[in-house]
Amino acid sequence: MKKRKTFGKATQELREQLGSRKVLLEGNRKFMASFDSSKLSFEYDALIRARVDSDVGVVLKLANAYKVPVTARGTGTSLTGSASPVRGGWVLDMTLMKRIAIRKEKAMVVVQSGAVVSDIQAAADAEGLFYPPDPSSLKYCTIGGNIACNAGGMRCAKYGVTRDFVLALEGYLPNGEKVSWGGEYKKYATGYNIRDLWIGSEGTLGVVTKAVLRLVPKPEGRWTCVAAFENERKALSAVKSLLGEGLVPSILEYLDVNSVHCAEDIAGVRLFKEVGGKPLLLIEFDGNPSDLRLAKRTVRAWADRLALAFKEARGDKAADNLWEVRRKCSGAMFALGNAKINEDIVVPLESQLKFSDQLKRLQKRWNLPMPTFGHAADGNFHVNIMFHREDPDELERAEGAVGDLMKMVVDLGGMISGEHGIGLAKSPFLRIAKSEAEVAAMLAIKKALDPKRILNPGKIFEPYQVWKQQPITAGLPWDKKPILRK
Ligand SMILES: Cc1cc2nc3c(=O)[nH]c(=O)nc-3n(C[C@H](O)[C@H](O)[C@H](O)COP(=O)(O)OP(=O)(O)OC[C@H]3O[C@@H](n4cnc5c(N)ncnc54)[C@H](O)[C@@H]3O)c2cc1C
Repeated sequence: MKKRKTFGKATQELREQLGSRKVLLEGNRKFMASFDSSKLSFEYDALIRARVDSDVGVVLKLANAYKVPVTARGTGTSLTGSASPVRGGWVLDMTLMKRIAIRKEKAMVVVQSGAVVSDIQAAADAEGLFYPPDPSSLKYCTIGGNIACNAGGMRCAKYGVTRDFVLALEGYLPNGEKVSWGGEYKKYATGYNIRDLWIGSEGTLGVVTKAVLRLVPKPEGRWTCVAAFENERKALSAVKSLLGEGLVPSILEYLDVNSVHCAEDIAGVRLFKEVGGKPLLLIEFDGNPSDLRLAKRTVRAWADRLALAFKEARGDKAADNLWEVRRKCSGAMFALGNAKINEDIVVPLESQLKFSDQLKRLQKRWNLPMPTFGHAADGNFHVNIMFHREDPDELERAEGAVGDLMKMVVDLGGMISGEHGIGLAKSPFLRIAKSEAEVAAMLAIKKALDPKRILNPGKIFEPYQVWKQQPITAGLPWDKKPILRK
């Protein structure tokens, strides 16, 4: 852990105002909030466990008075270091604020920011409604973290990302003033839309305490299938052709040969006896019976024309068996290296073939395995650069490969992050993706809303050398339990 400034007087005053039960100065809970899933840990002064909205106001007002950095936090599943308190100060834990209230007649749910995403889904489901965003971490991550990162998942193919479901936000400006952007209604056109500015701002522009989310009717059924292709080019061409049929799959996941190798040869999950080691597309449709009938007819004909092999799931259990290949490939990758740089780049549909060709060249150039899978309908691919952390040469090559990858996707008209955000991990590449004018516009907003730069400082804009740092080895819950679908 790095030595950081201490803010003793401010912390003492905070404790006087909120009490020692809410302001922790030591202990395991405090340590566990010193890092997120990037495992970069930083020393900081106090962990605040907010229980009511006004606690957040108290924290931010004092932080402004004493210029103490504040990092808001959900469950710390961020993969980019966005929840790691790189500048020390205070960590504001929002997980105790987790109430969920369904508004059935309005097809909405009102949630506190610490509500866990799978709990929101379960509450909606119990009322015959559906909250579609499904990051693989959904059993752990909070809606506050999802809003701050504009989280995605597999179902974005049909339903979109977190942003598409946020109707309103309530919370605190960095100066500690309470604000609300929208309410329990579906539209508003009243001044600047700061709700959307907060979404994806990685906790740098405000702290969310409450959100109103849009729900949709629960789909009546689903149908899952998988197709294998001769090579990556054929698989990605087939994506374009499937989407060109006018169908909207709820999920359309791609696994390249290296990812399939991890699932088949390392994790022992093999979907096709006759063809092994071929890239796959996992496809799911949801909807009413007539939508599903149309999807089945069209997809079977599409697979006849383009796929090497094709398999349909009959029933939920069979569908889950098909998903096994996607679930298992990610963990199995650690047989290729003990460290993984998990990128989440985006390329437009028309550049996917070039992307796949250039990725092969990148792997050759840096001589590292880079199994790649992801959300093909959105062009959002997880490139997993595998290396051995203790080998300085491999580390150097992994860093070089990330830099090249970022330039490559921007040259292809894409973006350096589709769902994880920038945090610390992608901060060195922000200026590859965004022009000086664009970065200046973002910084002007930051300066206007947070002139003392107390909220999540050090993130997004200041290049940070993540991979040169030694991560801690503490176990996180999502390291131990199987995570669905990643
Ligand atoms: C195994 C695994 C799988 C994952 N799969 C996916 C995936 O499929 N799709 C995807 O998009 N992401 C995925 N992620 C990344 C991560 O789960 C998401 O970014 C998630 O949104 C983070 O939520 P959290 O509650 O853990 O937030 P944290 O990690 O605690 O915080 C993340 C960011 O949100 C800010 N923040 C948190 N709460 C608030 C608040 N109340 N107000 C303001 N800012 C706040 C923090 O300051 C920080 O910048 C995955 C992570 C893991 C470990």
